[in-house]
Amino acid sequence: MIDQDFLSSLPPLREVIAEHGLNAKKSLGQNFLFDMNLLSRIVRTAGPLEGHTVYEVGPGPGGLTRAILAAGAERLIAVEMDQRAWPILEDLNTRSGGRLDVIPGDAMKVDEATLLAGKPVRIIANLPYNVGTALLVRWLTTRNWPPFWSSLTLMFQKEVAERIVAKPNTADYGRLAVLAQWRSKPRIAFDVPRQAFTPPPKVTSAVVHIEPAEPIADVPLKSLEAVTAAAFGQRRKMLRASLKSLGLDPTPILEMADIPGDLRAEVLDVPAFCRLAAAHAALMQSRKSS
Ligand code: SAM
Repeated sequence: MIDQDFLSSLPPLREVIAEHGLNAKKSLGQNFLFDMNLLSRIVRTAGPLEGHTVYEVGPGPGGLTRAILAAGAERLIAVEMDQRAWPILEDLNTRSGGRLDVIPGDAMKVDEATLLAGKPVRIIANLPYNVGTALLVRWLTTRNWPPFWSSLTLMFQKEVAERIVAKPNTADYGRLAVLAQWRSKPRIAFDVPRQAFTPPPKVTSAVVHIEPAEPIADVPLKSLEAVTAAAFGQRRKMLRASLKSLGLDPTPILEMADIPGDLRAEVLDVPAFCRLAAAHAALMQSRKSS
C-alpha cells in the first residue's frame, strides 16, 4: 500500500531542487527521477518492506527515497555524497516521522555489513554509474553467505544489466555474470528509457533484481575470482594460455576440473568455473603444505 497522503504532503521535487540549487553534476553521476509511478514500480520490484531495513545509495533530491518511505519502510538508511542534498533529506526525515537516517559521505567507504547488522536488509538504489559496478561486486562478494542483504533492486545502464544476467556463449558473459550467478539469482525487471531521467543519460537503463541463493558449488571466493579474472582477462585466448596469468601451471588445474585446455572462457558455464576454482584452491593448498 502506497501512502498517498504522505506523498501529496511533500513539496514537488523540481521545486525542492531549484530551492537548494541541486543542478545535476555529471561528476557525481546525477540523473534524477521524478515520476512517482516509475519510482513506486522500482520499490514494488524489491518486494514487501515490512520487517526490513532499506539501504539506499545516492538518494540525491529524494525521489526514490520518497517512494520507499511511502511504501511503508520503517527504517531507511541512505548514503549521499553531495552536501547540497543533505538539508533536503533532513527535511524528508522530519516529514516521514524520523524514519530516514542520512549518512553523509562516500558509499564506497561505508562498512554496510556492520552498519546494517540486525534486521534483514533490502538495498534499493538508482546507482551513480561511476561506482555502480564496484558496489555490486562488493555486495556479491561478501565473506558471509547468505549475505547481510536479502535483496538488491538496482538501476544500471542497460549494458551493465545485460552483463549481470548474461549466459555463456554471448559477448556479455564475463566475470560479472559468473560472480552474480554463482550464488544469487539476478533478473532484469524492466527497462527505463533515457527520457525518464533529468538530465537524460546517453543510454537506456534497466532495473535489476537480485536475491541470494544456495551457491552452485561451495568453492573459495578468492579462487573463483582468480580464475574468472584470468580466464576473461584474455577472453580470446584458449584457457591453457589465459590461465597462465594465475602464476601456476594451468595443465593440472584444467585436468582436475575436467575441462579441455583449448576452450575459451566464454563457453564455460558457472558450474565449470566452480570446478576450475575448486581445482585452483586444491593446488594452492598443496603448494602451501609442501
Ligand atoms: N536517487 C536519486 C534519483 O533516483 O533521482 C538520484 C540518483 S543519481 C543517479 C545518483 C546519486 O548518487 C546522486 O545523488 C549522487 O550525488 C550520489 N552519489 C554519487 N557518488 C556517490 C558516492 N560515491 N556515494 C554516495 N552517493 C553518491
